[in-house]
Amino acid sequence: MMFSEFIVSPRFLVVSSLLMSLLSPTAQADSLLIKQVRIINSVSDGQAKISKVSDVLIRDGKIQAIAPNLSRHASKATAQIDGRGRFLIPGLIDSHVHLDGVPGYAGDDSKDAAMLQEARAQMPRSYAYFGFTTVLDLTGDAGFIAKWNAQPAGPQAHFCTPVTIPNGYPASWMDKDLQFQVPATKYMLFDPAQPNVYPANFKTDDHTPQAVVNAAKQDGANCIKVFYETGFGPKKNLPVPSVALIQEVVKQAKHLKMPVYLHGNSQASYEFALKAGVTTLVHGMWHEAKNVEQFANQTRLKQIADEIAQAGISVQPTMQVLYGEHEELNPDFFKNPMVAQAIPQRLMAWYQTDAGQWMKNILAEDFEPATKTPAELYQSVKTMYQKPLSTVRRMTAELHQQGAKMLFGSDTPSGPFYTQFPGINGRWEMDRWLEAGMSLPELFSALTMKNARALGLEKTIGSVEVGKQADLLLLTTNPLLDVRAYDTIEQVILRGKAHQRAVLSAQSH
Ligand SMILES: [Zn+2]
Repeated sequence: MMFSEFIVSPRFLVVSSLLMSLLSPTAQADSLLIKQVRIINSVSDGQAKISKVSDVLIRDGKIQAIAPNLSRHASKATAQIDGRGRFLIPGLIDSHVHLDGVPGYAGDDSKDAAMLQEARAQMPRSYAYFGFTTVLDLTGDAGFIAKWNAQPAGPQAHFCTPVTIPNGYPASWMDKDLQFQVPATKYMLFDPAQPNVYPANFKTDDHTPQAVVNAAKQDGANCIKVFYETGFGPKKNLPVPSVALIQEVVKQAKHLKMPVYLHGNSQASYEFALKAGVTTLVHGMWHEAKNVEQFANQTRLKQIADEIAQAGISVQPTMQVLYGEHEELNPDFFKNPMVAQAIPQRLMAWYQTDAGQWMKNILAEDFEPATKTPAELYQSVKTMYQKPLSTVRRMTAELHQQGAKMLFGSDTPSGPFYTQFPGINGRWEMDRWLEAGMSLPELFSALTMKNARALGLEKTIGSVEVGKQADLLLLTTNPLLDVRAYDTIEQVILRGKAHQRAVLSAQSH
């Protein structure tokens, strides 16, 4: 297909885009030329640069050339996109997702099979619709991730292996016996503090920090995930690993050049991160030390923020975790038109049935005198979440001011919540970053080059440069001036293949 003749005159631009949508949802050509576009790249943390108007030639999934005029390099088979007045940016990277399962759905009722299949097919497209072209699954496994990456239009996934201890988080969420069965037990550490809880077939030698990290590396993991969580909801006072045990995990992981991500959202977990020397904390801090008045501890919190920055530990604030919880009770949640772009209609209808409201009902239990209207209930829940939200905003601002490395991760979904659907949840996390005082250029760096570096993929993705993988977004407005620019994506280019944004929407399927 050749569209170049249509690009000459604006009158034909309409025809060109109409033809694109009629003839092919994706540009099938072997190469793609984006004409006369301005390119935005992150140049250092918190700074980005806009190029002069340029042509960008993509071939075999890679950026082959960038120059003021590349028309003579276009063959008959080269598809073209008019980039005039548009901005070309690197595809976005979310370094905290969980790809397994459909958010908010537990169990497997056979009558839901078609609905779930449709939802699973849409999830990669929803990430792409909101601009995410790379994701890191913090609790993945090789087989699942390979299947995910074989899907036609979605972000490329990488994964960390979760390394657990018995009866701790998250192993304790499983059935007592199930936690010791393969595969759950494969990367479980032998915890010297719990010497007698293992079944007879549990070979201690296979569960040392060295053995478990080696196994994860061999199985293709990019990183290791560990946990410091004493529990919440019905599961409290759970055992946590010792500093010495996780130090050994970190030592072996560093030896194999694998970053170590720590789950933790409490002051204690931040202190643990400092002692254990992990690479990244995957949550903001929303629980201060127990039995201490909110903010009474400010001096200590400032000190922790400073130490985290000094130690070079990066932090994912994941503020959308708390929003996702209280939005479950928002009676107008499904009225937001953006939601219907992400969630298939049939699943959205199911979420609003009695069966689909199960998690919402659990969250509501703590608040519910039966007389309350849904609007009043939502208000009470929001009020309760003000405390952890103000703590996490304040700590995020403090970490940011001290110069800690802030990484973009949405934690999609952080629990069984329909409010944290792929793609859209990351878009909302962007709003949370601005609320906590980060700037638009800082957000842009975090979504692109900084996350590429965190994944060790800075030579392949994270910027619009010759030789890099062509994971790109074409926007009609400038994301360094307004966060809503991320809502003006026109084209999502995945490994060199252009997809019109509308075609990725749940409403197009
Ligand atoms: Zn998570």
